[in-house]
Amino acid sequence: MKFKTVNPSTGEVLKEYTSMSKEEVLRIAEKCNTAQKTWKTKPLKERAALLVKLAAVLRKNKEKYAAIMTEEMGKPINDSTAEIEKCAWTAEVYAQNAERWLKEEIVEADGVKHRVVFQPLGVILAVMPWNFPFWQALRFGMPALLSGNTGMLKHASATTGAALAVESAFKEAGFPEHVFRTIIADHETVAELLAHPIIKGVSLTGSTPAGKKIAAIAGQHLKKVVLELGGSDPFIVREDADVELTAQNALKGRFQNCGQSCIAAKRFIVHEKIADAFTKRLAELAGKLVVGNPKKMNTTMGPLVNENAAKDIDAQVKRAVAEGARILTGGKRMSGAFYSPTILTNITKGMKVAQEEVFGPVASIIVVHNDDEAIEIANNTPFGLGGSVWTKDLERGEHIARQIEAGRVFVNSIVKSDPRMPFGGIKESGLGRELSHWALREFVNIKGLSVYEHKK
Ligand code: NAP
Repeated sequence: MKFKTVNPSTGEVLKEYTSMSKEEVLRIAEKCNTAQKTWKTKPLKERAALLVKLAAVLRKNKEKYAAIMTEEMGKPINDSTAEIEKCAWTAEVYAQNAERWLKEEIVEADGVKHRVVFQPLGVILAVMPWNFPFWQALRFGMPALLSGNTGMLKHASATTGAALAVESAFKEAGFPEHVFRTIIADHETVAELLAHPIIKGVSLTGSTPAGKKIAAIAGQHLKKVVLELGGSDPFIVREDADVELTAQNALKGRFQNCGQSCIAAKRFIVHEKIADAFTKRLAELAGKLVVGNPKKMNTTMGPLVNENAAKDIDAQVKRAVAEGARILTGGKRMSGAFYSPTILTNITKGMKVAQEEVFGPVASIIVVHNDDEAIEIANNTPFGLGGSVWTKDLERGEHIARQIEAGRVFVNSIVKSDPRMPFGGIKESGLGRELSHWALREFVNIKGLSVYEHKK
């Protein structure tokens, strides 16, 4: 199958690719499998040292990699460079903590000794999305490789250039051949590959429907699965919150990456006493976003990933309006894949827009009377990825945060990923965890090893 990557900002075709044949993909899988046999025997220190080299390669090629991402999916160039920096930092965090995070556990019991050891599974398949092309691929790849697996990346077709660049970064850093490979493959080939005995696990970041399909195949063949899926994160604003600070963060939390982040704040659940002031300020700030060519340094919001995504967002906004929502600002398609930063008010919990994922620059404001109502609405979605609470009362904030049904919750910060903390969701937002030592334990055999004396 042939397909093209397209610059969403201009509509210009960037490159045409041909998907690999099933045979070619299988040949690569076999090479990754052979490579894993040696890779797993390397001392952990050696594998960790390669991550330090990877960090250096990422920094050295920062501008080049950033430009690829911006061209392929429209992220403002400053955000692209920040993404590469974050990948480099994460590589270093993993390298620094490798020994501690993969340390065998000592268990006191009867007999001579009991240990819990972490051994790699083999070749792991990654199916990744286009919204953070380097970050998602490396967030999977770094821990999977560090724990002794080899990886095969099937990236979103929209970001095939980035997928190949990620592979070349591993190569340039000195990782042995076939320890990390990118494949260009259609969905059918991915399904066949996943069913093949060589593949021992799969990590998918993407939409909930794609996650369900991949998990079904994996389930049929009893493969380990990690799923990082969609979200509709609540952003709860208590009556005591500082309006300016909260609105500034709301802007970042909702509109960065043109709203195309799984952990973007998507539903703003605001106490009635502060709702008018907060909404007014957020609208003012949204009006100041510089929407345009993502290659320009002063651009703060680029296009959506493609024109269809802009059409989908427009349809979601129109449906919300038909259900009773009011457009406070925006609500319009601009040229091509661009969409105006939008704020919807008058949202009530029964509306579709209050429950589904809106993967674009649209903030929905839901006014509530108290904390209990805020928590109830926060949890009233099929998703459970992230959430935040904004308040001067840290104790109360933590109390609320603990009741949010999600994998990553914050008090007075937007939801963000950090290599030192676990990341992932519950409910339809996925299963398993990425980042921190938890990621290192996803694609390993957690082996219990017990030794007893040989005596009657
Ligand atoms: P998507 O359509 O689900 O695609 C994600 C990846 O899955 C792509 O590589 C895609 O390949 C592949 N794919 C989709 N269906 C497949 C199938 N049946 N068989 C094999 N591969 C399949 O998602 P997206 O539109 O790129 O990304 C947006 C979604 O990802 C949002 O819902 C967002 O919330 C979620 N996301 C979640 C996280 C997280 O950490 N929880 C992070 C980022 C994004 P093709 O491109 O070739 O179709």
